[in-house]
Amino acid sequence: MPEAKRIDGKAFAEGLVNRITRAVAELQARHGLKPGLAVVIVGEDPASQIYVRNKGERTEASGMRSDTHRLPAETSQDQLLDLIADLNADPGIHGILVQLPLPDHIDSSAVLGAIDPDKDVDGFHVVNAGRLAVGLPGLVPCTPLGSVMLLKDQMGDLTGLNAVIVGRSNIVGKPMAQLLLAESCTVTVAHSRTRDLPALTRTADILVAAVGRPEMIKGDWIKPGATVIDVGINRVPSADPEKAAQGKTRVVGDVAYAEAVAVAGAITPVPGGVGPMTIACLLMNTYTAACRSAGLDPAL
Ligand code: NDP
Repeated sequence: MPEAKRIDGKAFAEGLVNRITRAVAELQARHGLKPGLAVVIVGEDPASQIYVRNKGERTEASGMRSDTHRLPAETSQDQLLDLIADLNADPGIHGILVQLPLPDHIDSSAVLGAIDPDKDVDGFHVVNAGRLAVGLPGLVPCTPLGSVMLLKDQMGDLTGLNAVIVGRSNIVGKPMAQLLLAESCTVTVAHSRTRDLPALTRTADILVAAVGRPEMIKGDWIKPGATVIDVGINRVPSADPEKAAQGKTRVVGDVAYAEAVAVAGAITPVPGGVGPMTIACLLMNTYTAACRSAGLDPAL
């Protein structure tokens, strides 16, 4: 059997960002509207700081306004809620993203629930989860949205295909299930209590791994020719024992790529698969929110 096609999420995301950048320029030229994204970070978590800096740079590079609000770790929940209220009321801000995790003394769901659903570019607000579930236009979580874009680009019409999603989180697994149901797939969602997971995953024409366990899904769990979307991002010790001893790490997915590539028809690599789509979809959601705020069609 030939080796699986490598789904190049990085290239697809670059193309999408280019389309968004052109659309943003046109929105400003024709309607005087510049999409604005506010990113809020509380505390000094180094990984979160890097994510936030990256989001700000990418937002500006696409021609949008980017505001970053860096708050100290001791910020109270009320202070954070006051900032959210200000951003909700700011007509120059169309997207609000609160970087997770928040410090323990802050109730994340209260904060996410305070964001205006029409500015909720992460798509985590219950109103957006509800809109997705009943098929109303809303803002869809970026990682599953980007994953489905890759699937449609790769496979075209997904109607009638068996999709198995491993993972049922609110940010990946569940919205992924809703999106694939909307594409008329037959969807099964597996989780830590699923019985005989390998037998289930072997029924999948589309297998989505969103577990957070390095290389858990083995080659013989995959139906020959299936399309595999590996959402997982796991940092593990370097494969080179000498480098590992120096504390060097590498990033792997939830799928054992070297085995899977010999069985699957197509597969996203980690890194370079789903990851780049997440930030591209954040920009797309910000553009979408800005267009809708002015009653314009956000189609790219
Ligand atoms: P969560 O930890 O919130 O959810 C993990 C899910 O996997 C849960 O539903 C859990 O089941 C299930 N699970 C855990 N162990 C097993 C097992 N042994 N067998 C079957 N199911 C299992 O993770 P997220 O959804 O937030 O993220 C999943 C992965 O995706 C992570 O690696 C994360 O880093 C990555 N990620 C990547 C993004 C990207 O941009 N590419 C963005 C977001 C996440 P149960 O509900 O029963 O506990």
